[in-house]
Amino acid sequence: PALHRQRHQFVIDFVKQNKPKKVVDLGCNECTLLKTLRFHREIELLVGVDVNGAIVKKKMHGLAPISTDYLQPSYDQLRIELYQGSVTQKDARLRGFDLVTSIELIEHLTLTDVELFSEVVFGYMTPKTVIISTPNSEFNVFLPGVSRYRHSDHKFEWTRAEFRSWAMKVCLEYGYEVEFTGVGKAPHGQQEAVGFCSQIGVFHRLVGRDCCNMLLGSDAEDVFSYTLLYSVNY
Ligand code: SAM
Repeated sequence: PALHRQRHQFVIDFVKQNKPKKVVDLGCNECTLLKTLRFHREIELLVGVDVNGAIVKKKMHGLAPISTDYLQPSYDQLRIELYQGSVTQKDARLRGFDLVTSIELIEHLTLTDVELFSEVVFGYMTPKTVIISTPNSEFNVFLPGVSRYRHSDHKFEWTRAEFRSWAMKVCLEYGYEVEFTGVGKAPHGQQEAVGFCSQIGVFHRLVGRDCCNMLLGSDAEDVFSYTLLYSVNY
């Protein structure tokens, strides 16, 4: 399957196994991942955020339940919310989630904004799990026609070592641990040498951190910097 499908499938497999109740997809674009996730009925709150409101609006009505969805018995309620907003800014409505996904988003941020992203996601939103995917630049030798970056809007593309060092720093600073994996395998025999096409970090919040976050939370003023574009209840 195409690489973007594989990245989304990685998230779907995680959701099937871990059954998070509250999920937010950062940089949700045309809501493709959200459209698949809404069929996983353990999810009670499904949120999408993108800085580009126009792109979210394009297909968001596809998230509306079709009449037969209401007829399926004994499912838990699902609520979907879509916001226009930047991952560099805090919004109190995004705190306390079980899972935050950020699929092919961070490489579109300047390194200064990546720092803000880390603070917002790991320091403020403090979800139980964060899944981050980003291109592995070591793999680019296998991509025909790619010279510097895979996409003209990319501000950087990291090697495995660069991604790892950013991720380890985030873990130390905010109390998470991380596992590295990826999707898109290298041609025969070269997997070890170059790694996956898209590298993925799965971050888990360390236990014992809950108390601190709650203290911080009760102190802090609630900020609402995102604009609600769409919401629907199933
Ligand atoms: N996550 C989707 C996927 O897996 O196909 C889309 C990835 S697309 C390459 C990157 C998305 O991130 C775009 O929709 C873009 O508008 C969004 N984006 C870029 N900067 C952002 C920011 N600061 N805050 C929120 N979204 C942002």
